[in-house]
Amino acid sequence: MKKLLLLGAVALLAGTAQAAYPERPVTLVVPFAAGGPTDKVARDFGEALRKHLNNQTVLVENVAGAGGTLGIGKVAKANPDGYTLLLHHIGMATAPALYRKLPFSVLNDFEFLGMVNDVPMTLIGRPTLPANNYAELRKWIDANKGKINLANAGLGAASHLCGLLFQQAIGVDMTTVPYKGTAPAMTDLLGSQVDIMCDQTTNTTQQIAGGKVKAFAVTSVNPLTTPALAKLPTLDSLGLKGFYVTIWHGLYAPKGTPKAVLDTLNTALKQALKDPDFIQHQEALGAVVATDSRINPADHKKFVEAETSKWAPAIKAAGTYAD
Ligand code: ASP
Repeated sequence: MKKLLLLGAVALLAGTAQAAYPERPVTLVVPFAAGGPTDKVARDFGEALRKHLNNQTVLVENVAGAGGTLGIGKVAKANPDGYTLLLHHIGMATAPALYRKLPFSVLNDFEFLGMVNDVPMTLIGRPTLPANNYAELRKWIDANKGKINLANAGLGAASHLCGLLFQQAIGVDMTTVPYKGTAPAMTDLLGSQVDIMCDQTTNTTQQIAGGKVKAFAVTSVNPLTTPALAKLPTLDSLGLKGFYVTIWHGLYAPKGTPKAVLDTLNTALKQALKDPDFIQHQEALGAVVATDSRINPADHKKFVEAETSKWAPAIKAAGTYAD
């Protein structure tokens, strides 16, 4: 009788343990430095996710380097148990075209859990730059060809993509200065050690609002409504026709994560995306929280495939590669 009771208790415990995912903190890997735009989205989103994951802490781990590919690689090889996840942006679609050899396959080594948000970018400059609008910036660029430093977060970063497209669009080559994220790049831009940068509004809005950097344009289709950004023209309206770059962020787990865990995570993601605090924080930084079909895993994956095909020709045309 005693033995039966014990067996029953063990069975009950095992059942509870399975149903209780997550039963310990979940690590969310961010492939860029702390304090930057991807990190900010991850910390804000992680907090919203926590509320729908048994109140388990979502710990952000910054695995920065190689334009975000170090962090992606770490999660590709992580234990597929739902306790190591990846929050990453458009780099999931651009890295395959930028690196000749990658130690992972975005489409084969990951479970797609849903899209989180879309974020426009801004073209900004050091505070000491003698240009106060885009026309003055263009004149300054033409007068300083060969001497201009463009900060980015490495090959595969959103800032890299935007900077590459900008150089192509105006036909001027600049010296790129890579950082482990645009948080350290912003520090150097504020200190006037580098000249210009194209970065997500999630990193630039507060600096623009405080007048700490020069702001020239946005990469969205229409002007933005966030107060500090509303006065900025679109690059398209300034003559760079079709210059639209939107940086999206998605959530991923290593391939082979159990279906029940994936379902729990997708349900939590959908609930987190409705969190009023998360929505408000994101809107204040110019970001738009995802509400469309890309919050479903199959459509998230289809979207990443489409983005991969969309950006590959532009990247190949620029002839930028890393081994
Ligand atoms: N905004 C950066 C990028 O260019 C990354 C970051 O630091 O979050 O991709």
